[in-house]
Amino acid sequence: MPDPNGFLRYDRRLPARRPVPVRISDWREVYPPAGEELIREQATRCMDCGIPFCHDGCPLGNRIPDWNDLVRTGNWDAAVDSLHATNNFPEFTGRLCPAPCEAACVLGLGGQQPVTIKQVEVEIADAAVARDGLRPRPASVSTGRSVAVVGSGPAGLAAAQQLARAGHTVTVYERDDAIGGLLRYGIPDFKLEKQHIDKRLAQLTAEGVRFRTGVDVGVDVTAEQLRAEHDAVLLACGALQGRDTPETPGRALRGVHQAMAHLVAANRVVAAAGDGKPAPATLPDGTPIDAAGKHVVIIGGGDTAADCLGVAHRQGAAGVHQLDLYPEPPTERDAARDPWPTWPWVLRNYPAHEEGGERVFAVAVQEFVDDGTGQVRAVRIAEVTVEKVDGRRIVTALPGSEREIPADLVLLAIGFEGTEEQPLLAQFGVTRNGRGAIDSRPDWQATDGVFVAGDMHRGASLIVWAIAEGRAAAAAIHTYLGGVGDLPAPVDPARQPLAAR
Ligand SMILES: Cc1cc2nc3c(=O)[nH]c(=O)nc-3n(C[C@H](O)[C@H](O)[C@H](O)COP(=O)(O)OP(=O)(O)OC[C@H]3O[C@@H](n4cnc5c(N)ncnc54)[C@H](O)[C@@H]3O)c2cc1C
Ligand code: SF4
Repeated sequence: MPDPNGFLRYDRRLPARRPVPVRISDWREVYPPAGEELIREQATRCMDCGIPFCHDGCPLGNRIPDWNDLVRTGNWDAAVDSLHATNNFPEFTGRLCPAPCEAACVLGLGGQQPVTIKQVEVEIADAAVARDGLRPRPASVSTGRSVAVVGSGPAGLAAAQQLARAGHTVTVYERDDAIGGLLRYGIPDFKLEKQHIDKRLAQLTAEGVRFRTGVDVGVDVTAEQLRAEHDAVLLACGALQGRDTPETPGRALRGVHQAMAHLVAANRVVAAAGDGKPAPATLPDGTPIDAAGKHVVIIGGGDTAADCLGVAHRQGAAGVHQLDLYPEPPTERDAARDPWPTWPWVLRNYPAHEEGGERVFAVAVQEFVDDGTGQVRAVRIAEVTVEKVDGRRIVTALPGSEREIPADLVLLAIGFEGTEEQPLLAQFGVTRNGRGAIDSRPDWQATDGVFVAGDMHRGASLIVWAIAEGRAAAAAIHTYLGGVGDLPAPVDPARQPLAAR
C-alpha cells in the first residue's frame, strides 16, 4: 500500500547537477547518479491516486505508480521488470524524455509539484544494468519469418527488439556508420553518453538482431531486394529534413549552417576522441564548424537549439545568443490556456541554459550580414509579433526595432519538415504527405507488407513516441506474419498527445 501522505512529508527534489565550470570542461552527462536514499524518498511522493493520469501522459503507458511503490519499498528487481514490461529503453527516456507524465501527475491538480517520475525511471534503468548487465531474453522458438527494419533510431530498435523476442529474424539497416539514429550523432554526450546505446545494442545482438551499418536503403540495396529477402519491412527513417530559411538575405554566407550539421560534427569528434580531447569539429568536406572563440547565434527555441548551446560552450564559444520567434513563455502553467493534465506552454530551462548565453525572445532575423568576404559577421534582427490567422502564422516586424548581433557562426535550429525525400520512398511506393510524413493505415502499413513508425510517420517528435510507435508497429507486423498471440501495442497510428483543444 503506497504512502498516501508521502507528498506532504517530502518536497520534490532532484539530484544536483554537476557544477557548470566542471561540466562544460568535458562532455560527460550533466547529472550524477541520484543515490538510493533520494530516489526512494521521491518515489514515496507518489500516492497511487487511483486514476493515474500519468499513464495517459506517457505514450508508452508506463506503470508509473507500480514502480514508484516498488522503489519506495526497495524492491528493485520487480521495479526493473515492471518498467521493462512497457518500455524497451528506459535508460534513454529516463535521461531524455521531457516527461509529459509529470505534467499529468495528479499532484499538479492541488498545486503540488509532480513526482520526479523521470528521475525514478532512470534510476531503475541504471539499476537494471548494475544488477544483471541487461540480461538478453532471446526467443525460445524461431518463427522462420524475417523482417527488415530500415533506420536504427529508437523506433527501429524498439521494433527490432520486440520482433526478435517474438521469434522473428530481424535485420536492421542503417546508412550511418553506427547504430542509434539521432541518439548516436544528433544528441550530445552531455545528455546521453553513448555507452548506454552500446550496452543495449549488446543485448539486442545477443537476442539475435542483426545490424548492417553503412547501407543506404534505396541506394546500396533496393526496395525490391529488401522485399525479396524479407517477409515484411518496417520503415523508421526519422524526420531529418531540416527546415531552412532560403529567403533570408545572406543565407548563403560562410558560417551559416543547419544546426544538425554542427551537432553531428561535434558528436563525431567526441566519439572519435574516446577519453581524449576532441579535435575541432569540421563538416565532412573539411569546412570548420567549431564554435571555439566565435560569436555564435542559434536560431530556434527547442531541444536542438539547446543542444547547440551546450555544444558551443563546451567548444569554447566567445559568446552565444539564442533567438526565439515567440515571446517569453510564463514560468507557471496558464490553466485557462493549457489546463491540467495537458502539456503546458511554459518557459523550459534546459541544463544548457545554466551554462551561459543570452536568450532573446520575440525576434526574427531580417538578414545575415556579410563581412565583405562572403563570411557572416552579424545577424540583423527585428522585434516581432506572431499571430495565427486561419491556421497560418503571420509574423510582423515592429518598425524601428532592428539591431545587429555579432555572429561568426549561425546555427539554424528552426525545426524539421518531415522525412527526407530519398530514393527509398518511390521504390517502396510511398509519398510524403503535406507535413512531410508517411501516412499509414490503422495497422501501420504504409503499403502492403511495408510498415512505418516513429518520426517518419509522426513527424519530428520525441523518443518516447518513437519507442511507443516502434512497439505498436512490431505488434502489427507480428500479426501480419501470423505470429502466435499478441504483442503490446501502446498506441495506434492516430493517437495524439493529451490536449485541451
Ligand atoms: C538535436 C536533437 C535533440 C533531441 N533531443 C531530444 C530529447 O532530449 N528528448 C526527446 O524525447 N527527443 C529528442 N529529440 C527527438 C528524438 O531524437 C526523435 O524524436 C527520435 O530520435 C525519433 O526516432 P526515430 O527512430 O523515429 O528516428 P531517428 O532517430 O531519426 O532515426 C532514423 C534513422 O534512420 C536512418 N535512415 C534514414 N534513411 C535511411 C535509409 N535510406 N537507409 C538506412 N537508414 C536510413 C537515419 O540515418 C537514422 O539513423 C531530439 C532531436 C534532435 C534533432
Ligand atoms: S517515458 Fe517519458 S512520459 Fe513515459 S514515464 Fe518516462 S519520463 Fe514519463
